[in-house]
Amino acid sequence: LADARLTEAEILADPVAKIAAVGGARHPSIPLPIDLFAPGHRNSTGIDLSDIATLDATVKAVNAPAVKPVAATADVASLVARAHAAFPAWNATPLDTRAAVLEKLADLLEQDRERLMAILVQEAFKTIPDAIGEVREAADFCRYYAQQARARLGSVELPGPTGERNTLHLEGRGVWATVAPWNFPLAIFLGQTVAALVTGNTVVAKPAPQTPAIAQAAVELAYRAGVPRDALLLAVGGPDVGQKLTEDHRIAGVAFTGSTATAKRIARTLVADDDRPIVPLIAETGGINAMIVDSTALPEQVVADVITSSFRSAGQRCSALRLLLVQADVADNVIEMLKGAMDTLVLGPTGHPATDVGPVIDRAAYDKLMAYRASMAGSTVKTLDAPADGLFVPPTLIRLDRVEDLTQEWFGPILHVATWEAGTLSETIGKVNAKGYGLTMGLHSRIARAGEVAEAEAAVGNLYINRSMIGAVVGSQPFGGEGLSGTGPKAGGPHYLYRFCAERAVSVDT
Ligand code: NAD
Repeated sequence: LADARLTEAEILADPVAKIAAVGGARHPSIPLPIDLFAPGHRNSTGIDLSDIATLDATVKAVNAPAVKPVAATADVASLVARAHAAFPAWNATPLDTRAAVLEKLADLLEQDRERLMAILVQEAFKTIPDAIGEVREAADFCRYYAQQARARLGSVELPGPTGERNTLHLEGRGVWATVAPWNFPLAIFLGQTVAALVTGNTVVAKPAPQTPAIAQAAVELAYRAGVPRDALLLAVGGPDVGQKLTEDHRIAGVAFTGSTATAKRIARTLVADDDRPIVPLIAETGGINAMIVDSTALPEQVVADVITSSFRSAGQRCSALRLLLVQADVADNVIEMLKGAMDTLVLGPTGHPATDVGPVIDRAAYDKLMAYRASMAGSTVKTLDAPADGLFVPPTLIRLDRVEDLTQEWFGPILHVATWEAGTLSETIGKVNAKGYGLTMGLHSRIARAGEVAEAEAAVGNLYINRSMIGAVVGSQPFGGEGLSGTGPKAGGPHYLYRFCAERAVSVDT
């Protein structure tokens, strides 16, 4: 593990070395007795997997070498200059043509899904189901935004007195910087980028330094789908590249997904110079997401949903459950069942179909999570053994005395549990709200009134009642938070594209 301490430059120079170092390595194909990809089988995002041949073939495909090194960008300013020059022509391209390009891109993503899944498994340590879900989500974003653009953008005539014609035009603002995290390096990277493109903007897109190969694959497919080469440019690198990009006065808007601290840094950058135009920032950030369980909830369903919400993707989802709040009367039972369910989790390489929990993204994340876990050993009620070779953080359950005791997002497979007393649902929701984050919240209860209280009082962007808290579906569960969790726009929702537009009203005395 000592050798796994790679610098950012080394990661960018040789992603394959990084894969070997963190244990997300390729795994030999293993035929399984069950065929997850049989006709009619649907994964958690409702995808019919029957057209992905057999599981065995899929496992072979996702384990074939797929990640090639991607060079870091040296000259960010020249990328912005190219995107800036390309803006008028792309903005003048008919809306229908831009939407058709997104639909073509969705087709290409689907056709190329096995290679994309392979990169996701090898570079971002996605499990096979997560990789399938991510390719699906990326294609869904393209189709949904194409459809929404056709339905909502362009020009509309507005009412006015006789002799006056009023028209509202929605068009691109200029060059957008899209800055993405490593945890959804295809779906989020592409989702925010195609939203900017379809509304007429050109884009300089910056992936996370941990995941440049999947971003490069996505951008190449976008070119093949018909995005002009200067309308979308890839800026590869870490915070320094992101900083240069967002500092550039020609950037007309920033769509950022990542940590709260980085969002605040970008917000400060955007207002640092007095002579810079005021530009919009869309920020989707982290959360301290809680699930509240009362004594009427079905414990078996609670436990299944908690396992999915906390430990799937090794807890590396912004929506993931961090704080389980169980009504005191049933807490012992729920915790016992949860401990038993945790024992069934399989830790292993992500290219193996049986793996539930793979390694975390890099050495820095591993060190931070393991140090926290060690510091909480006295309050740990359950943890697992991890494979010795690799950056595996064992799923861990930590008991807290009070809701207030969890004060930051731990971005990994670490779940906290505390109790609340019957009759204090509103108060408990209030304590969660008081943390200031507002991304996801869950409630498990069979009392209809409890659902109404949560709906009225939970200050979150996404509330999930009697189900898991992850896997928001494009077009059905628009996703995004408030407060410390973001500026509010909902990716995959009907109002998202407006955030990327300039609106111009023209009034003519006829
Ligand atoms: P991060 O904030 O460290 O990095 C995100 C991106 O910002 C990367 O591309 C990074 O290089 C870039 N960056 C860093 N400093 C910058 C700067 N000064 N200027 C411009 N760009 C800069 O986050 P991460 O570790 O990649 O991702 C994990 C975080 O993302 C978690 O907090 C998670 O909750 C959050 N997240 C939120 C959502 C959501 O939709 N709300 C979705 C996924 C992840």
